[in-house]
Amino acid sequence: MEQIQKLIAANALFVVNHSGGKDSQAMMIELLKIVPVMQLVVVHATLGEAEWAGALEHAQAQAANAGVVFIVAEAVKSFTGMVESRFATRPEVPSFPSASHRQCTSDLKRGPIDREIRRYAKLNGFSKIVNCMGLRAQESHSRAKLTTFKTNERNSIAGREWFDWLPIHDMKIDQVFALIKAAGQAPHWAYAAGNQRLSCVFCIMASSHDLANGAKHNPALLAKYVALEEKTGYTMHVSRKPLLELVAAAGTIAAEAGAETEPCDLV
Ligand code: SF4
Repeated sequence: MEQIQKLIAANALFVVNHSGGKDSQAMMIELLKIVPVMQLVVVHATLGEAEWAGALEHAQAQAANAGVVFIVAEAVKSFTGMVESRFATRPEVPSFPSASHRQCTSDLKRGPIDREIRRYAKLNGFSKIVNCMGLRAQESHSRAKLTTFKTNERNSIAGREWFDWLPIHDMKIDQVFALIKAAGQAPHWAYAAGNQRLSCVFCIMASSHDLANGAKHNPALLAKYVALEEKTGYTMHVSRKPLLELVAAAGTIAAEAGAETEPCDLV
């Protein structure tokens, strides 16, 4: 892609949004083929207990093995803290994020990541930023329609150009796993444990299959989310079904939710 080649030549900073998931991992393998290591930085937005154990370390290890700087972006609030605070201030509206008001993505991931990118770029003299995300067309109809390269007007200010790029948008899921294997790497352990995607353990948009798998491996976190549903009177999942019901029904409705869910735009 000509624009990318020009940005590499112009010493742009390429930011790898790395959730610890397979798509981030494959994207980084691809980026390392064309972008000099000194122009790469890996950013992981940590959600603490809400994310799968080892997700941060998985992203960190890939960065370390490639000699790329690794940054953790951390929000002031936790997922459950965000829900608690919303319930405390506005009990009349749903306490959990929804598909249309996804403040978990904006407040816990996007905001902290943008802040860290700005800080790193300023500190290291980068005036051009290419923010790379591992979204793929195969994941959903809406993701298939996304523009793969565009100027981010909101983050472009005087003296700083910011672009958003989806380097593996065309890649199919079997190619993702094949690429990781060919690079001599393994994906995060949650895939081998049965997960289809790696997002928050109990993502508001997860398939019932992944919710059930999350419950199996994270019973203490399940209890915390269930208690929060009971306390607030609202359900966590966008289906508006109680978490326990979704987990229990996973065997029969797994196919219903799996194909079109979009946990985060930072996978
Ligand atoms: S993975 Fe799901 S619950 Fe977690 S921040 Fe993203 S959309 Fe929200």
